[in-house]
Amino acid sequence: MNSEAIFYIIIGIIIIDFIFDKILDTLNARHFDDPVPKELDDVYNSEEYEKSQRYKKERYKFGLVISTFSVLLTLAFIIFGGFAFVDEIARNITDNAILTALIFFGIIMFGSDILMLPFSWYSTFVIEEKYGFNKTTKKTFFLDKIKGWLMTAIVGGGILALIVWFYQVAGDNFWWYAWILVAIFAVFMNMFYAKLIVPLFNKQTPLPEGSLRTKIEEYAQSVGFTLDKIFVIDGSKRSTKANAYFSGFGSEKRITLYDTLVNDLEDEEIVAVLAHEVGHYKKNHIIVNMAASILTTGFTLWLLSLFVGSPQLSAALGVETASFHIGLVAFGILYSPISELTGFIMNYLSRKFEYQADDFARNTYNGNFLVSSLKKLSKNSLSNLTPHKLYVKVHYSHPTLLQRYRNLRGIV
Ligand SMILES: [Zn+2]
Repeated sequence: MNSEAIFYIIIGIIIIDFIFDKILDTLNARHFDDPVPKELDDVYNSEEYEKSQRYKKERYKFGLVISTFSVLLTLAFIIFGGFAFVDEIARNITDNAILTALIFFGIIMFGSDILMLPFSWYSTFVIEEKYGFNKTTKKTFFLDKIKGWLMTAIVGGGILALIVWFYQVAGDNFWWYAWILVAIFAVFMNMFYAKLIVPLFNKQTPLPEGSLRTKIEEYAQSVGFTLDKIFVIDGSKRSTKANAYFSGFGSEKRITLYDTLVNDLEDEEIVAVLAHEVGHYKKNHIIVNMAASILTTGFTLWLLSLFVGSPQLSAALGVETASFHIGLVAFGILYSPISELTGFIMNYLSRKFEYQADDFARNTYNGNFLVSSLKKLSKNSLSNLTPHKLYVKVHYSHPTLLQRYRNLRGIV
């Protein structure tokens, strides 16, 4: 296939992807004013409900502006030879392929992040602020940005440098080495994320002795689960939205509760949320998810190895000399329909797992407490109670509140 055809396919994929996404968003938005299902009519009072309606609509419009801006920017960048221009800058600085790739991606990623900065500012300090969610100070906002950039430069840059190096040494067989590297990194991150990365952004303190801790430990013991690492994180530093998650495995497994969750929910509701998290662990969801993502990565890298060296791929983006980093960008766009598909399957699997974890919580602890905690969490994040079916299938990693309610109450 010649480079011109590839160029048009790339443009086509970006436009079709955008249109598909906007159709889904619009379908979903049309159901914003649907009547709230009877089972969920105690989530909001009428004033809160109106607030949630306004919030959904504002988020929807904002999403439309941001995605239109970014798709136009991407198209203009490709059509006017932006990648070739940045490639030229990088090549003028150094001949070394690893450094060229690092400079190239450095400029692209930093540049796009700066361009998106006003949107992220508006989202935090105008929209989230208006609805009372935002607790982030301007200082935290900028520190987060800087820490994020440094982390991407060190971690992302390190991995990229190694992969380009593998490509230089092993040619098309580089994907094996890259796969092993990424797999080890993923397992390592899952194990030590809470110890290494979280402290850069948040304070974590062990859950103090007291009635909540006792109730959690009693529950853990009743299902034969050793759990000595229960931490509370200062999520309230940034937002009032609450969360809880499980990370690590083996001796590194730990549960992290947002302080907002601890403050908003009753002890029994928190234990029910934890029982759900323990369910994920007991049902091996963590291992299955990790295996699935490692397999997908292997497939992606293998496919990449077939195309990355092709001069037509680089030429499609206006670069005459084929190089790994330009091939990678072109491949990334061409691959996006496949990643939409794998994402769709992963979300399906994830929703299945959520039901199983809910069932586990209901069978080993109490479904009613889980229902009331899910309702409170939905209310506190002003979440949408009437999403469109197709939107749920594509975007939701969790079943809707109504679906979970019905499952927990045994209504099928
Ligand atoms: Zn879950």
